[in-house]
Amino acid sequence: MDPKGLWQAVLGELEVTISRANFATWFRNTAIISNEDGHVVIGVPNIMVKNWLEKKFHSDIKATLSKMNSAVHTVEYKVGNIPAAHIASTAPSMPAKRAEAPASKSSQASLPIQSAAPNNLNPRYTFESFVVGSSNELAYAACQAVAKSPGTKYNPLYLYGGVGLGKTHLMQAVGNEIIRRDPSKRIEYVTSESFTNAFIGAIQKKKNSAFVDKFRNVDVLIIDDMQFLAGKEATQDEFFHTFNALHQSNKQIIISSDKPPQLLVQLEERLRSRFSWGMTTDIQTPDLETRSAILQAKAAAQGKILPLDVIDYLARHAQQNIRELEGALTQLLAACEVRNLEPNVALATQLLAGQAAARPKFKPLTPKVVIERVAAYFDLQMADIIGAKRDKEIVVPRQIVMYLMRHEMNLSFPKIAQAVGGRDHTTAMHSVSKIEKAIEDDDSLRGDVSAIREQLSTVG
Ligand code: ADP
Ligand code: MG
Repeated sequence: MDPKGLWQAVLGELEVTISRANFATWFRNTAIISNEDGHVVIGVPNIMVKNWLEKKFHSDIKATLSKMNSAVHTVEYKVGNIPAAHIASTAPSMPAKRAEAPASKSSQASLPIQSAAPNNLNPRYTFESFVVGSSNELAYAACQAVAKSPGTKYNPLYLYGGVGLGKTHLMQAVGNEIIRRDPSKRIEYVTSESFTNAFIGAIQKKKNSAFVDKFRNVDVLIIDDMQFLAGKEATQDEFFHTFNALHQSNKQIIISSDKPPQLLVQLEERLRSRFSWGMTTDIQTPDLETRSAILQAKAAAQGKILPLDVIDYLARHAQQNIRELEGALTQLLAACEVRNLEPNVALATQLLAGQAAARPKFKPLTPKVVIERVAAYFDLQMADIIGAKRDKEIVVPRQIVMYLMRHEMNLSFPKIAQAVGGRDHTTAMHSVSKIEKAIEDDDSLRGDVSAIREQLSTVG
């Protein structure tokens, strides 16, 4: 098999084992660039992809390659431009296109429409559109297991974690997947608040049997945000009976909450103990890598590719939850569309600065702090940065200072020039754009800038 055919075959195998969002994000524009004596070099478009493939997919890639070609014994990843001719011809049909297609479309297409029971699931929430990283991989795996055989292994499935980390998305993905496999399944998704309201309404209208019917005759009951049932004793009582009825007949129950069961102190003990019968798993705050991956996938789903420094900027500044991350991305893409601009860090800074103003404030950065931190990082004196020396060891840190003043403080070029020893504003422009470009392909520079940014974000 030629390298192209080989890689095409490998991608074909991998594609079915990972989610669409992950596949599109990590395997687009990759290719085998050489295969000599069993040493395979895979070309990848950027350092983030390289790191991720090495960390997360290396053993799969290697195993699949060896399976296809027994001579393969080592695999290496290299960042660089990949000649278009090398990219496997399945490429156009997979990444961007597949990621763009709304997940609902493909799943609906495979449904025999007449028999699908109505449900209130959001078709956007699928496993395919969920990006897996270390913060959520356990929850993801548990949800997939439940989707494959509901009502058996993990019952109930209890997911917990902070706001905006993907609980609702994952639970609904389970529901969507179960229906995709068997459209006759009845799924009821409800927040604990609407469960409460339905229960109160049923009592008032004396229609308790309709209520019981609705929640006890389902194949899968998904209760979101369980914490809101705290303190509501009558509703808890009702839920207890619903739970038992479903559990006894091997119907799947999926629960989410912001805390683990034992911390839901205002919930009856008998409920809490039932929650630990099955599987309890948490979703954590995503790390920087996962946040970046999610941004790439979300941008790709809209047919956009963001420059790495923009991804990096957004991922660093919207750290707490993914809803915030999505919001930042959406705003940026909208602003670019309106102004007919390509996404860039300056624009992202402007947008997020507006949001940051509404938040509790950290001490604002000053030019002095930026100079101080950069100088310390490179083991220089502040005087070196603002001075006239032209040694390379000083020029690059000086340019980084200007870059950070632009991107972290949104300073104008004349102000930057002034802050860095009264230089000409064209020098500032030149320096900023130099670092912007260099960051794209110089890993070590990018690492330095990231590290300094991280330090700056703790100022205050
Ligand atoms: P929660 O229910 O935990 O508050 P949501 O499920 O509502 O969070 O997630 C918030 C938003 O972030 C949703 O739009 C969801 O699609 C998105 N999201 C969360 N996690 C991921 C992920 N791992 N990959 C892709 N999108 C995600
Ligand atoms: Mg939710």
